[in-house]
Amino acid sequence: MALIVQKYGGTSVGSIERIRNVARRCLAAQREGNDVVVIVSAMSGETNRLLGLAHSVTPIPDAREMDAIAATGEQVCAALTALAIHNEGGRARSLLGHQIKVVTDDAFTKARIKTIDGSKIFATLKNGEIAVVAGFQGVDRDGNITTLGRGGSDTSAVAIAAAIKADACEIYTDVDGVYTTDPTICPSARKIDKISFEEMLELASLGAKVLQIRSVEIAMKYEVPVHVRSAFSDVPGTWVTNEDSSLEEVVVAGVAYEKNDARVHIVGIDDRPGVVADLFGQIAEKNISVDMIIQSATTESRANVTFTVPKTDLARAKPFLEEIGKALGAREVRYDEDVVKVSIVGLGMRSHAGVAAKAFRFLANEGINIQAISTSEIKISCLIAAKYTELAVRALHDGFGLHRAKGCTP
Ligand code: ASP
Ligand code: MG
Repeated sequence: MALIVQKYGGTSVGSIERIRNVARRCLAAQREGNDVVVIVSAMSGETNRLLGLAHSVTPIPDAREMDAIAATGEQVCAALTALAIHNEGGRARSLLGHQIKVVTDDAFTKARIKTIDGSKIFATLKNGEIAVVAGFQGVDRDGNITTLGRGGSDTSAVAIAAAIKADACEIYTDVDGVYTTDPTICPSARKIDKISFEEMLELASLGAKVLQIRSVEIAMKYEVPVHVRSAFSDVPGTWVTNEDSSLEEVVVAGVAYEKNDARVHIVGIDDRPGVVADLFGQIAEKNISVDMIIQSATTESRANVTFTVPKTDLARAKPFLEEIGKALGAREVRYDEDVVKVSIVGLGMRSHAGVAAKAFRFLANEGINIQAISTSEIKISCLIAAKYTELAVRALHDGFGLHRAKGCTP
């Protein structure tokens, strides 16, 4: 007998028929002798609809009220799921974020969980009921409803699993696991059986959308094994777990791409100590996160600086980038939004030399120019023209042998 957390995403609860399917699945897990806690997202499209309503009233809605509106999507779904379990002859009780005291900070629309009180969940389970918890939502210390950011039900599930020390956290979704890359642009993508927390964290931050990044951070910190799998079949999905030696052998585990990057190129700033400190210090003050950075010296003590910022922040950033550029003596500030960041991720990069060189070669073979590069211990990212996204992803994916079943030599 185990204590299992199951999370169902929006498409898995996208209709009443699908909610009935979820009810049957949780009951099956309970009948096998497990204690079952279910976390649900809002029905698919519902969060967008609710946020749309808020925006139709006023162009920039107050964040506190947006959360009060958005949280209802999960509230409705949790209660519907509990009813569906009753209808199948089972016992269940819906629980909202504030009822199980998912206490967060007060950063509305992107709140972070501070504590969770598991006692209500345990009492519910002790009663023989399935606990159906509304994902995505919490409550701040003043009792305001908060939400955890888009995709936040993943984080609710993993955080609750950690808080109640569940044996596993199953994330049910509309795909059957984590893939070596996006199958919609690379037909040879394969499902990964097992991946480390670290690799998953990199993949999630580099544009793979299966899990909210924060949920992977929490899973890694509290060592919650996560099983990402399909809500519509029984095939095993992808286990996200602690690294072991078998994972180290895989040089490249996956290829990700991120379209929300824009390139900023500042030409001819003063080349003296403190210039980039000023530049990036001021950008940080505006709360804009910078990713790839290249500085190159030119002649006559001038330097060029190239970096990327989220496209969604570019409009806001432009006026003060021009200003800072001027203050630092720049000749020109240029922007390019037609770029994409493609990345390879793998634990084995730590112990295998020449991975970066190979990646650059695979891109070069396709005639793709690299505009910026950044690396960490287990990832290499290249900024390229957006029109080459598919070509680059396929070249890297198949170049590193990810199209082959494990065990074959690349
Ligand atoms: N319903 C929320 C969203 O659409 C949270 C989630 O589904 O994880 O972002
Ligand atoms: Mg999701």
